[in-house]
Amino acid sequence: MAKIEVLSRAVADKIAAGEVVERPAAVVKELVENSIDAGATEVEVEIKNGGITYISVRDNGKGIPQDELEIAFLRHATSKLREIDDLFEIATMGFRGEALASICAVAEVSVVSRTADSQSGVCMTVKHGVLSEKEEVACNVGTTMVVENLFANVPARMKFLKKDSTESGYVADIVMRIALSKPGIAFRYICDGKEVFSTSGDGKLKNAILNIYGMDHAKNIYEVDYREHGVRVCGVVGKAELARGNRTRQTLMVNGRYIKNHVVSKVVEEAYRNILMTGKFPFFVLDIELAPQLVDVNVHPAKTEIKFANEKEVYNIVHSGVKNALYRPAESISEMTFKTAERHNVTADLREDAKNPDRRIIKEFMERTVPREGFGSEAEYSFRASEVFAKPYIEKTVDEKEERAEDVRKADEIREKLFKETFPPKSRDEETLAKNCDQFARKAFDDAIIENIDGQPFCEDAAARVVGQLFDTYIIAQKNEEVFLIDQHAAHERRRFEMLKKDYLEKKPSGQQLLAPIVFDVDAVELQAVKENRQMLEDMGFLMEEFGRGSVIIRETPLIGDEGEIKALAVEVISALIDRRPLGMLSFEERILDMVSCKYAIKANKKLSLPEMEGIVKDVEDLERKGICTCPHGRPIKLSFSKRDIEKGFKRIV
Ligand code: ADP
Ligand code: MG
Repeated sequence: MAKIEVLSRAVADKIAAGEVVERPAAVVKELVENSIDAGATEVEVEIKNGGITYISVRDNGKGIPQDELEIAFLRHATSKLREIDDLFEIATMGFRGEALASICAVAEVSVVSRTADSQSGVCMTVKHGVLSEKEEVACNVGTTMVVENLFANVPARMKFLKKDSTESGYVADIVMRIALSKPGIAFRYICDGKEVFSTSGDGKLKNAILNIYGMDHAKNIYEVDYREHGVRVCGVVGKAELARGNRTRQTLMVNGRYIKNHVVSKVVEEAYRNILMTGKFPFFVLDIELAPQLVDVNVHPAKTEIKFANEKEVYNIVHSGVKNALYRPAESISEMTFKTAERHNVTADLREDAKNPDRRIIKEFMERTVPREGFGSEAEYSFRASEVFAKPYIEKTVDEKEERAEDVRKADEIREKLFKETFPPKSRDEETLAKNCDQFARKAFDDAIIENIDGQPFCEDAAARVVGQLFDTYIIAQKNEEVFLIDQHAAHERRRFEMLKKDYLEKKPSGQQLLAPIVFDVDAVELQAVKENRQMLEDMGFLMEEFGRGSVIIRETPLIGDEGEIKALAVEVISALIDRRPLGMLSFEERILDMVSCKYAIKANKKLSLPEMEGIVKDVEDLERKGICTCPHGRPIKLSFSKRDIEKGFKRIV
């Protein structure tokens, strides 16, 4: 039997280090986090051979004082103990003051560092735990750490590493995530001599996304910024077209630190119900900000997984935040209209406070600029009008939109000009007026700017033209250089669904009285379900009540159909009420609304007239503007082909 022996320090270090730095990506993560902690605004990561032979992390942070250099490499040496409650410490707890020491135990490390109050830098190398002499070198303020030949002295660990290309993939992933979590820091990532990506560090998440994922991602996102009970969720969520078959493009942070949490992913995905097909996962970069005490520390540190103390609440807030963002562009369809309006104090005030002279002139101005007819609710009008209202001022900036950093300043300037021109201070109380106008125009302007940056033309371009109908099921339409096929049933169903949902949320039941009420038999359970859900049914447009023993009378339905259809729908709805699955209230209600919309939507295999098709094409465009491009079950509404695709097919171009 082997004798029990005390492990030598070197062996123990190697074992411990293996737990902390399991692969090159973990080393990079530790080093980059140190750079961030050192207040760097620029961080450059370079690796060779998947990081196995070479990793370098250079920063312009505060540097390590000469006399602390050795200490920094010792186990449990840290300058950050006071931050123990901070999430950073939670996320990297196992490494508290251990990272550098661990890395040194399994690789050759050299450091060059200079602090601002020192004339020159100092260089030191550590080979297999042995420190070299310090040397003076000329360098900029900041720190460069070079880690070479990782695990060369730990063959057992080496075996666990994957192909170089796989390891570089892991490194790229972690650098990307960190870059997304710190848009204020300029990152540069170089792999085998080639720059893979770099971020501008201008503090705008959208630009970091542009740098990392490219234009299609930067264009197709909605901003999230939502606060409730001291928890804030902010970042961006992608439109449906960015969804992928896996979750690799989901980045979650807590208090600015990249973490993993599957439940949050699920919650975000839940908010996409009706938008994405099953098996598709949305793109997002979200940060949850909350008091550090609310984060459960009792989780394995190396896994970057965490738990929230008030899980349910946090999940609900994330859900609402994402939902708000997804439906925000659809200002006119839901309660969001009113939420947004209230936030900006515009619509609600315009409605309620039309007597206020200041408000009145805004309204008058708006109505002069944008005719009132053609808009449904007051809120929709107000929103659309505000866009038009700000349009001439936006157009001036469109040309210069390249300089995004300039956008904010320009926005302010132009906005100010807008007030002055539109509301020249006369005898009115200048200040109140300016304040009201400011609020109004700020919103109008911000919305327009967002749209502008999103790359969507502010004013509509040419309307889509219907070309014809295919197989009595698909509408062919053309717009600019694009041809599309629209599934008439899917499109119509979705349109109906959105309308019903809007009415439901605004508590404007869409019920239509039946000339001849329909009576039908139900059993006791069904009757009970009808009685219990009477109000909800009514809000959805069904007026159903008990009618003598064992039967129910339908007096109103959301849409008119023939008796057989209405009965069938009522039966379907009632059975859904009975087996109401615990999916959360809204989604359950949505299911019922969807039943209604599906029943009444134009079916496939139906010949349509030109005006009918034009109506559907317009509906599809409206839906797209709201970021909706699927039927309520997630099937696509539209397929598109560019002129280029077609020309390529015919080999007119190559
Ligand atoms: P921790 O980050 O948990 O404190 P580390 O082993 O990662 O432990 O680092 C030890 C110490 O070395 C840090 O506390 C910090 O003082 C110093 N240090 C490491 N990297 C840098 C850097 N890039 N810039 C400035 N100081 C650094
Ligand atoms: Mg560290």
